[in-house]
Amino acid sequence: MKMTGDILSGVPVVDKLSVDELTPGTHRFFFRATTNSLGNAHHLPVIVVKGRTEGTKLFLQSTLHGDEVQGIDVIHQVLPHLDPAKLKGTVVLVPGANPPGMQNVSRYYPAQTETLTLTNLNRMMPGDANSSNAGSRFAYALWHNLYMDNADIFLDLHTDSTGTAYPFFIYADFRIAEVCRLAALQPADQILEDDGIDGSVETELVRNGIPSLTLELGCANVFNPEITRRGVQGVLNTMIDYGMIDGTVDLLGIESFVGTEQVSVQADQGGFARVQVKLNEDVVKGQQLATMTNSFGDVIATYTAPCDGRVLSVCTAPLREPGTLVVQLLRRV
Ligand SMILES: [Zn+2]
Repeated sequence: MKMTGDILSGVPVVDKLSVDELTPGTHRFFFRATTNSLGNAHHLPVIVVKGRTEGTKLFLQSTLHGDEVQGIDVIHQVLPHLDPAKLKGTVVLVPGANPPGMQNVSRYYPAQTETLTLTNLNRMMPGDANSSNAGSRFAYALWHNLYMDNADIFLDLHTDSTGTAYPFFIYADFRIAEVCRLAALQPADQILEDDGIDGSVETELVRNGIPSLTLELGCANVFNPEITRRGVQGVLNTMIDYGMIDGTVDLLGIESFVGTEQVSVQADQGGFARVQVKLNEDVVKGQQLATMTNSFGDVIATYTAPCDGRVLSVCTAPLREPGTLVVQLLRRV
């Protein structure tokens, strides 16, 4: 634990978090990551709820991609369920892991390198303290001074990118038994068994022996109460199953479809997409998924399913550039 001695809006500032050194109870901190080009620090809100009894350390992070705010609502709605007098173990909650991205309503960390380098923090882990990219240094601070020693299990809360929509969807490395266990506790519509992505929080944590999931909670830039309800239930289920709180696991009657491959249908040329299928709908090979029109309203393309599958993602913003997603399917092969 390294307190800076500073107090910001009444909240103590730390530049290294070590929950083992904290007393039982609920604590608020600002975690000081790196500084911006004016020399001002990026401060991340951190809440630690530590029980009186030893137990699992659960880490909940939201909004490492700055436009993916849904998990902040999940964290805020989980808080009333966390009573340190009854909790076994510790919960660390970070509702907003990329403040500069959030202020830009952007997925990225806006590094000023060579005018502006939009950096994907979820490909940068565990970061590099000596990098020429400020985003990588920011990632390094999160990894080494916020995550390490504070997480036995980790849920990284995301959503689909701006302009596209997922249902409640999970990326999970099914080669790891504890990851399967975590995934099975979430009331998710769809789950992808995948080997991970280099540099992502989830994948790098799993490689370091910390079971982790990437939860994709619907759409960017919104708080959807139904998705929040399910996200909260998944967190509670996790805490129940790991013996942190009393209760009964409840999957809300949802049976997850577990797939092994994402199949993307991308726009061949720019235009206005009209999607004709709904999330979680089963489609068959050859079924029409969407049309594309030009500015005059002429249909210039129709998009069909290249295989059988379940609709995993759709574009919600009609303007599409070449190569952008129109519809994505999940299938099991
Ligand atoms: Zn994301």
